[in-house]
Amino acid sequence: MESRTLTPPARDREIRERRGLLFEESRRGRRGIDLPPPEFPEPSREIEDEIRRDLVDGMPELSEVEVVRHFTRLSRLNFAIDLGLYPLGSCTMKHNPKVNEWAARLAGFARVHPYTPERLAQGCLELMHDLERMLCAITGMDAVSLQPSAGAQGELTGIMIIRAYLAAQGSPRSVVLVPDSAHGTNPATVRFCGYTAEQVPSDEKGCVDIAYLDRRVDGEVAAMMVTNPNTLGVFEENIARVAALLHERGALLYMDGANMNAMIGITRPGDAGADVMHLNLHKTFSTPHGGGGPGAGPVAVKKHLEPFLPVPRIVKEGEAFRLESERPRSVGRVRTFYGNFGMFVRAYAYIRALGGKGLREAGETAILNANYLRKGLLGVLHLPYLGPSYHEVVLSDREIQKGTGVRTLDLAKRLMDFGFHPPTVYFPLIVPGALMIEPTETESREELDAFIAAMKAIVEEARTDPDRVKTAPHTTPVRRLDEVAAARQPRVRWKPDH
Ligand SMILES: *Cc1c(COP(=O)(O)O)cnc(C)c1O
Repeated sequence: MESRTLTPPARDREIRERRGLLFEESRRGRRGIDLPPPEFPEPSREIEDEIRRDLVDGMPELSEVEVVRHFTRLSRLNFAIDLGLYPLGSCTMKHNPKVNEWAARLAGFARVHPYTPERLAQGCLELMHDLERMLCAITGMDAVSLQPSAGAQGELTGIMIIRAYLAAQGSPRSVVLVPDSAHGTNPATVRFCGYTAEQVPSDEKGCVDIAYLDRRVDGEVAAMMVTNPNTLGVFEENIARVAALLHERGALLYMDGANMNAMIGITRPGDAGADVMHLNLHKTFSTPHGGGGPGAGPVAVKKHLEPFLPVPRIVKEGEAFRLESERPRSVGRVRTFYGNFGMFVRAYAYIRALGGKGLREAGETAILNANYLRKGLLGVLHLPYLGPSYHEVVLSDREIQKGTGVRTLDLAKRLMDFGFHPPTVYFPLIVPGALMIEPTETESREELDAFIAAMKAIVEEARTDPDRVKTAPHTTPVRRLDEVAAARQPRVRWKPDH
């Protein structure tokens, strides 16, 4: 099994030990490119010295091939979706089609400046306008703003809109309800907007407890944030009843659409009664994420909330597109310019390439793959919730921990030796020893079978040779990192005297 390892460990170690930072590889006078002599007068010696002091001194000097090799080496020390299954639950790490990259690199898109006059950027405005319309059709909502740059920022924008809408009616109210299975960004968003986040328990099926909700929703409740399918991989069957109950009492339904991958082309949050939702283009619509790609978290609303969307809005007049900023009830701008435009091109290309039928097939295959894994891992790990799963399956290793002392993190780390990225662990919080596995629709049956076989082998090993699992990974360039220190005391700057 371990033959799936990506590069022989000895080779990686050699690569790592032989090479240092670009600064350490630097040799005075070495360069990658020679510029022609300037056509304008040479700068004075004084200015040149100053530029050298400010900009050049201390910068590494290298040839082109050294720079290329340095970054290629670094890329080989990491795991990527382009190398293998990346089943990070909740994150939808699916393949990003390369045709999207081609589209985003077309000069007319890639080189356009955000200050380009509207009349010279009609194609870009049309693309954004059409993407908004397509996202409306997919979600069953009435209007979209592409501006927010992440799911979390889409949430923030959505709750700001709810607050502005309710305030305009007399009172913003004070509480937003969040299920106990929610993604951590949901309660954080609620607090950021000045609301109190209050937890709603899940029932034994992993769904929102309707009876509890019925007792709880009063004139203080502004909204409820629901993820569907939720982070347990369970579809909220009563979502329409949840919406009706909230609406009866003057509250709104926020749909966290990060898991839209399991609904796309099959069912629409707008039809179930959602008032506002966000999408993650970097999850559902195959724009890159993880490893630094900028995100995009468009927010979609029903008609009654449209006046509150961020400005500028893209409006179509006759055949022309223009940006409109005079919207008195808008929550304002939530970021510079229009959002991450390059992501819009990729998402547009993705939707156009698949079409309605293709999107539905993607959603169906995501569900099929999650259930294939669920079946394959039945009896290997504990299943806390009865199926079916939607886009992801949540399992628990609590049976294995007993007696072996092997922890969830150990199992996840050991998967790296088999050539897989570890799944999300210890989330959702209501499942002890949770492993949250999201295969996505882009994986083949063979890849899923290999993952199931690896998981079986590791669980078996946890019983026969627990120390091997507890000390994993064994084949990666680095072993277990001090993640807390890395987050609290990051060393992001190189200093000559370090
Ligand atoms: C990923 C995710 C978010 C946050 O999205 P970001 O783009 O990471 O900010 C919110 N809710 C759920 C359910 C998610 O999976």
